[in-house]
Amino acid sequence: MNKFAVFGNPIAHSLSPTIHQRFAEQYSLPISYEKIGPDENDFENALSTFFDDADAVGCNVTAPFKGRALQQADTLNKAAELAGAVNTLYKKDRRLQGFNTDGIGLVADISNQGVELADKKVLLIGAGGAARGAVHPLLEAGVKTLAITNRTMERATQICEEVSVSHCIALDKPGLMSFDADIIINSTSASLHNQLPDLQHISFVKCELAYDMAYSKEPTLFMTYAEKEGATMSADGLGMLVEQAAAAFTIWTEKLPQTRPVIDKLRKR
Ligand code: NDP
Repeated sequence: MNKFAVFGNPIAHSLSPTIHQRFAEQYSLPISYEKIGPDENDFENALSTFFDDADAVGCNVTAPFKGRALQQADTLNKAAELAGAVNTLYKKDRRLQGFNTDGIGLVADISNQGVELADKKVLLIGAGGAARGAVHPLLEAGVKTLAITNRTMERATQICEEVSVSHCIALDKPGLMSFDADIIINSTSASLHNQLPDLQHISFVKCELAYDMAYSKEPTLFMTYAEKEGATMSADGLGMLVEQAAAAFTIWTEKLPQTRPVIDKLRKR
């Protein structure tokens, strides 16, 4: 039986095994998918033990190991390179291929909301690993402008310098006041602590979608704030989670799972 896993710490809460088992059921593929939560110092050992098994095909990697997973990969896709983080590893011909599918998942879920990214003005709040993973797929989707802002502005500026295209710009507070974004994405981890990033200089009046990468049973603080300030619609990151998993599943199996029934089922859990 083909073996898969997700590595992270903490990992008990992870929905990845459920999501991948649902995808596998769609194709009647028998798979095993386990949660592995190594100690901080033991990630590399645990990963290598997992892949020593001839049945091991691939794994997902989540916080805090995405940067270290990148170091273990023999090859990287463009999104992983720019993100400096790998969330999907695939063992092929004894080599570990590293991918970052978070941004692909984000772009797919924005499309699930019926919102087009092409030619849109997008504001990305946050400049951590998730933001970095999103930048290349958002640019690939043909956005008109990708503006990035962050509590620590140097990190936003750094990303834009690395990308080095004229329509990817870092915006600080004065710049934000004159940027009417069509789509605003919260990639900060503030929602995880039931907090809002500083949104004072951001206008939601022209915003057709306010997207929070975090997810929870109730709408996040960011979603509620955005709609109150004029955003037409808001969404959380549950769909992104399922879509990034689908992209990983396709890398491993070359099959395209249906995501909608899995998102709907998780929403009702
Ligand atoms: P990182 O730790 O790499 O980055 C955190 C970011 O949040 C930084 O930009 C940081 O700013 C900012 N931040 C944290 N707290 C605050 C605050 N109180 N006010 C303003 N800014 C703040 O985390 P990740 O990028 O890996 O993850 C970010 C979020 O994305 C998390 O909520 C995570 O759950 C979610 N995520 C969702 C996924 C999905 O599939 N739905 C996939 C991956 C991530 P600074 O640089 O100043 O420290």
